Amino acid sequence: MRVAVVGGGISGLAAADHLLRSGAEVVLLEGADRLGGKLRRAEVAGLTLDVGAESAIARGPAPTMAELITDLGLPVVKPTGARSSVYVDQRPVAIPPQVLGVPYDLDQLGGLLTDAGLRRARQEADQPAPALDEDVAIGRLVAERFGDEVVDRLLEPMLGGVYAGHARELSFESVSPALYERARGGGALSDHARAMVPAASAGSPFVGTPGGMGAVVEALSASLITRGAEVRTGVTVRELATDDAGGWQLTCGPVPAPEVIGVDRVVLATPAVATARLLAELAPIAAQELGAIRSASVAVVTLVVSGADLSGSGMLVPPGMLPTIKAFTHSSLKWDWVAEQVRTLHGEGAHAVRVSIGRAGQEQVLQLDDEALVVRTLAEARTVPGWSGAEVIGHHVQRWGGGLPQYAVGHRTRMARAGEDLATLDGLAACGAYWDGVGIAACLRTARRAAKLIMENEMSETRSS
Ligand SMILES: Cc1cc2nc3c(=O)[nH]c(=O)nc-3n(C[C@H](O)[C@H](O)[C@H](O)COP(=O)(O)OP(=O)(O)OC[C@H]3O[C@@H](n4cnc5c(N)ncnc54)[C@H](O)[C@@H]3O)c2cc1C
Repeated sequence: MRVAVVGGGISGLAAADHLLRSGAEVVLLEGADRLGGKLRRAEVAGLTLDVGAESAIARGPAPTMAELITDLGLPVVKPTGARSSVYVDQRPVAIPPQVLGVPYDLDQLGGLLTDAGLRRARQEADQPAPALDEDVAIGRLVAERFGDEVVDRLLEPMLGGVYAGHARELSFESVSPALYERARGGGALSDHARAMVPAASAGSPFVGTPGGMGAVVEALSASLITRGAEVRTGVTVRELATDDAGGWQLTCGPVPAPEVIGVDRVVLATPAVATARLLAELAPIAAQELGAIRSASVAVVTLVVSGADLSGSGMLVPPGMLPTIKAFTHSSLKWDWVAEQVRTLHGEGAHAVRVSIGRAGQEQVLQLDDEALVVRTLAEARTVPGWSGAEVIGHHVQRWGGGLPQYAVGHRTRMARAGEDLATLDGLAACGAYWDGVGIAACLRTARRAAKLIMENEMSETRSS
């Protein structure tokens, strides 16, 4: 059975991997001239660094990123253990104990909140909490329970880092499904969050590999090719149609000289909007639902600097605490392999830092050209403690237009409707960052699910013929 995987981001690469393991013949079609999608590396001041995703959650159902990295023969590494902080009132404050921004040890919120904010947050544990009968915006619920400061200074920066969205608009059910399940029956949110913390701390839940996520893409695509997959870049699929034999025809290439590729099955591993476009005629309900998913544009400004006095693995910046910057990741303090590269090329005291910029609905700052964005980023960074003496050795700007799908309230219901409509199409499945979570771990799960669906479909047809 020949299966086309459309989209060569981590979801498409992982789906192709599962399909090959299950014995399918795979052709992977990627529109861009490179594989990896949001996993991308670039050279900055002689260093090769991730300028898209840079780590993955290792926990959760298989296949985990750690398993994938190990399977590819690469070493799995953990971050150094340096802690990250939140930047409030011109100073970094240690991130208090929390589960995705929901605090569970209210006594440790002191450094983060004003006295009034702390008094308000402390009331949470004593207030009777009603049961939830439907999805709500997590930020609205947390504001009701703990007060606005907990949202503005903790939840918002935590979620802003992952989703580039606004806590008061993001779906509780989607961004924190396990906490949502517990909260549905009522009771203090802080108690539910505390109950989710593993008894013995297993250290950072994140993993990576020396060389970064880009190294995973390289190894995975090489492995797919070695195992017989046909991997093509620069091939944008423009149209999908079924053929008379129950298979699929994919129209690719430029309009004046189209190329039609025939396959038995299709996995769509494209972003929501591209998937909606391909499904417009075939599954109009799914297309409408996916087309309505908004996305946020972001940029990663990578700076290699000397003269900065940095500590910790990075700093989240709540909205309003700095005009533009959303987060700093001190890559050379977070990952030993980055520190080693920086030391070798630029000596002790130099640092590689990722500065994240952009939140949903605040795209105007991204209209600056690269040079202006770097100048503005550096000027803002220099107002932060430890940065006043920073001198730039090298910089890089990576823009991710529409890079992060927004999980609005009701997202799960939306996806259930889309899934029902998609299920009417024999031999087609979809996966990607808009289904179950934006993180790599969630993408891997949806890829596995899509590949399994395609193969089960094949087995039931073989049995009945
Ligand atoms: C700046 C940034 C930092 C992030 N950091 C992290 C992190 O540290 N950890 C983490 O877990 N997650 C992180 N994420 C999220 C995560 O990286 C993404 O959600 C995930 O990589 C998306 O993978 P995907 O394969 O679903 O989609 P994509 O990576 O978007 O891949 C889809 C691919 O489909 C291709 N395509 C589109 N249309 C067509 C077509 N018609 N024909 C052929 N090809 C097509 C595109 O060119 C693209 O390559 C980050 C995201 C961003 C933007």
